[in-house]
Amino acid sequence: MKDYKRILVTAALPYANGPLHIGHLAGCYIPADIYVRYQRAQKRDIKFVGGSDEHGVPITIRAMKEGISPQDVVDKYHAIIKDSLERMDVSFDIYSRTSNKIHHQTASDFFKKLYDDGLFEEKETEQYYDEKAKTFLADRYITGTCPICGNPNAYGDQCEKCGSSLSPEQLINPRSTLSDATPVKKKTKHWYFPLQQYEPWLKQWVLEEHKDWKNNVYGQCKSWLDNGLQSRAMTRDSNWGVKVPLPNTEGKVLYVWFDAPIGYISATKELTDQWADYWCKKDTKLVHFIGKDNIVFHCIIFPAMLKAHGNFVLPDNVPANEFLNLEGDKISTSRNWAVWVDEYLEDFGGMQDSLRYVLTANAPETKDNDFTWKDFQERNNSELVAIFGNFVNRTFVLMHKLTKGKVPPFHNEIADELDKELIKSIEKSKTVVEDAIEQYKFREALFEVIDLARKGNKYLQEKEPWKKAQGNKEQGTSQSTSGQNQKLIDNCMHLALQLTANLAILINPFLPSTAKKMLHMMKVVDKMLDWENAGKLKLLSVGYSLRPPELLFRKVEDEEIKKQIDKLKGSPKETAMNASESNQQTNQAALKSTIQYDDFAKLDFRVGTITAAEKVEKADKLLKLEIDLGFEKRTVVSGIALHFKPEEIIGKQVTVVANLAPRKMRGIESNGMILMAEDAGGKLKFINPDEQTANGSTVS
Ligand SMILES: [Zn+2]
Repeated sequence: MKDYKRILVTAALPYANGPLHIGHLAGCYIPADIYVRYQRAQKRDIKFVGGSDEHGVPITIRAMKEGISPQDVVDKYHAIIKDSLERMDVSFDIYSRTSNKIHHQTASDFFKKLYDDGLFEEKETEQYYDEKAKTFLADRYITGTCPICGNPNAYGDQCEKCGSSLSPEQLINPRSTLSDATPVKKKTKHWYFPLQQYEPWLKQWVLEEHKDWKNNVYGQCKSWLDNGLQSRAMTRDSNWGVKVPLPNTEGKVLYVWFDAPIGYISATKELTDQWADYWCKKDTKLVHFIGKDNIVFHCIIFPAMLKAHGNFVLPDNVPANEFLNLEGDKISTSRNWAVWVDEYLEDFGGMQDSLRYVLTANAPETKDNDFTWKDFQERNNSELVAIFGNFVNRTFVLMHKLTKGKVPPFHNEIADELDKELIKSIEKSKTVVEDAIEQYKFREALFEVIDLARKGNKYLQEKEPWKKAQGNKEQGTSQSTSGQNQKLIDNCMHLALQLTANLAILINPFLPSTAKKMLHMMKVVDKMLDWENAGKLKLLSVGYSLRPPELLFRKVEDEEIKKQIDKLKGSPKETAMNASESNQQTNQAALKSTIQYDDFAKLDFRVGTITAAEKVEKADKLLKLEIDLGFEKRTVVSGIALHFKPEEIIGKQVTVVANLAPRKMRGIESNGMILMAEDAGGKLKFINPDEQTANGSTVS
């Protein structure tokens, strides 16, 4: 291993067009934070940089759907994401954003340097154009069928189903997401980065010199390199992004994947005047934490750009994780099939460590993994509460009972095999955890810590210090026996307490707020958490009095889990979209099972008119509608806010399920449901009579 003087850690820039979900956390933020906290405890020179990626097409799409400006979109989601990361204790040294001026300047300079060095190919090509919407269509605006897996909703740049990177030309039956029109080709000029020129170098650098990279990362790179690289356009037709710094390029911006990784450099500049030490000195260890969908950008394209530029260091490692699924299905923002971090923190206040724990214990380090609420409950209750929390709590309760709330002495002369075995385990754990973290095996490292706590429980169970105390109280116990018993109790409690101190050090990178609580209970300062203290047995001084125990973790109850599962299953778009996904070949929703006429007759459909509509606070997808049914007015909450602006739909006639049981959504009672048609692309349309019809008319 090379001898590095400083470490620079980056975590993928989350895209500021939606809140953060647990897949993001498991993919890179939690692993990166564990690594960084560990290195800080090692007293190494390390910087942890990140920020929101605020350019690119999905943001303009969202802005259009919500009827606001792209800047409004990124302002809103940047704030939500930043807050979620902070409350999850992800300890960035700086969390910046790519709409900052310093970033526009840095990205622009980077592009200009490559341009001045004559590295770009200038090409006029035919690009897809939407004649209805009168605009060039960026890759993301085009959907169609994936030529590789047949997913009917693949994007022009990537298929989210199979992870293949695509170009719009490869899509079968392409269509515009703006107007649903079939796009046509039109001429436009762009600047291409000739990746193929870097292929021999990349083969040497990745395939020969980085055999140490994780198998999933190395494998994906190899497959890219084996397939051969091609020039890639580094500019796009759009008005949102970093403007192309060349004359006569109005309406053209840098490709988001050109500017986003440069965001790491901009953020470091913003953080410190010494930024060049971290980016330009060869003895810097640069580590990119990302999810698997970003591998090609961080292992091939960005390194080739850095190499072409010439002034910057290249990554030492890119420990990408695979995907985290949710309850057996792919996490999907558009289908609202996700556990949103801001909502989790609301429902499970103060339990960020439980989520950090489960997402690490179940991290998709080598393959896709599944998050289930049942597993969350199980791991929280039977590992955090029953093993780790239980050991620390028992130790503190016993210490207050048996050794007057003080750290008792250790009597070496009577140390037995169990004591020696525990001492060995404590000393060994340090190396095991350390080696695993250095190799980015965070699950393995965490299991070692939990295993050490388990050994502590077993030790207490075998020693039974409470029985020896009982013995001392019984009549007729001689003074020497009583003294001997107290010494045995002392040894047991002394070791259990030193183990507790060790557990605080070892758990700190993973569960920082738990480590903090433990420090408070032990009345020691942060410095005790320095990694060099791990494996030591004299962390707490003999005679030192400690505080009463605090609850480190609480049990998660069945009702809480049920509530979460109901929330997930109740997400309005879920049912329809699930069906359409299982019918990819035909692109049609599956037919539901047959019902009898009587079942149908139970439904009371009525024609109504929307008389008022407004957004529901803190709910992106919901509109609160007032509907005139003729015989009465109803409030209906409907999940259509991403599709329609409130002012657009006032006066529209709709079909209402009028006898649906009332349901509370975000504190508003919804009385009924409006019928919508949804096409394969997820577009919603109202179902209404084709002529104006009296409100209250029945539909059957
Ligand atoms: Zn595919």
